Amino acid sequence: MSKQQLISIVAPAYNEEEVLPEFVKRTTAVLESMSDYDYEIVLVNDGSKDRTLEVIKQLKLSFPKITLVNLSRNFGKEIAMTAGLAESKGDALIVIDTDLQDPPELIPELVAKWQEGFDMVYAKRKTREGESWLKKATAAAFYKFMQNIGSTPIPPNVGDFRLISRRVTDALLQLPEKHRFMKGLFAWVGYPQTEVLYDRDARFAGDTKWNYWKLWNFALEGLTSFTIAPLKIASYIGLATALSAFLYGLFILVKALIWGDDVQGFPTIMISMLFLGGVQLLVLGVIGEYLGRAFNEVKQRPLYFIESVDEARCEKQVEHVENEALGESSKSKPEERAA
Ligand code: UDP
Ligand code: MG
Repeated sequence: MSKQQLISIVAPAYNEEEVLPEFVKRTTAVLESMSDYDYEIVLVNDGSKDRTLEVIKQLKLSFPKITLVNLSRNFGKEIAMTAGLAESKGDALIVIDTDLQDPPELIPELVAKWQEGFDMVYAKRKTREGESWLKKATAAAFYKFMQNIGSTPIPPNVGDFRLISRRVTDALLQLPEKHRFMKGLFAWVGYPQTEVLYDRDARFAGDTKWNYWKLWNFALEGLTSFTIAPLKIASYIGLATALSAFLYGLFILVKALIWGDDVQGFPTIMISMLFLGGVQLLVLGVIGEYLGRAFNEVKQRPLYFIESVDEARCEKQVEHVENEALGESSKSKPEERAA
């Protein structure tokens, strides 16, 4: 091996003063034991309100392989992670929480899978300790829903803890959208992926930054950035309602024409009301369809990423390769040789 490969640990931290020293200690111990690789620990301070920044600066004195990325304010974990990915230089990057819920001891296993050729190795939770049954149940429901309705299947029970290769990182950073639901984006970029199972520990110290309101918004974010299904459902409900309104209107009209109008004005009022309501819902549905398309365009995602191309060997190239085999300099271009 000519040059040691670099592993970047990307860890967002928001009010984690109590855990950071232990996190850095445990992570460094694991990385030091992997003598084939060089490493950096990129800690992103996401506008913490406690002494997180000072703690990181202090840690940097004894652990020089720490890179500190200090954000100007609290942007939330998704953005903090993106900032960390953008600042990392590694050949492989490992996204991990600083609260030690993701055991750093799993890193060698993730790296081993990467060496087998996988571009993304996500850590899948076998158990979720220290989490209420309500959180477990809502998480399960969310994954189930996304699995069924979303066009990008998001693997269940997988957090952000994972290894991604350099090319996946570059792909992710090409996604310009502002609403960054990372779990979905990770799944969206594709490339060969595999999983490693682990037990999720309880938080080492401090409190979770999530509450149900935030989780609900997070779920909405995932739903709205990865599927226009709700919009589609709305337009079909509109279509169905409009259709039945028209039919009912027709029925009242025919009834009034045949048997007369017992309640004065009732058919006129009903018909105009149903007609207007139906037309409105139908038009809303049409707007919804266009809105969905505009929404997808506005995200400006790249159309695709290429995993590999196995090129056709046309004559010129074959000749070139043969010449190379005969010992001609591979650097000389065909034109130069012709001259
Ligand atoms: N985090 C962050 N910015 C935030 C909230 C959280 O960078 O606004 C970090 C936090 O420091 C931790 C990780 O994201 O490293 C996960 O947060 P938390 O443990 O609160 O979430 P949970 O594990 O309960 O899902
Ligand atoms: Mg946590």
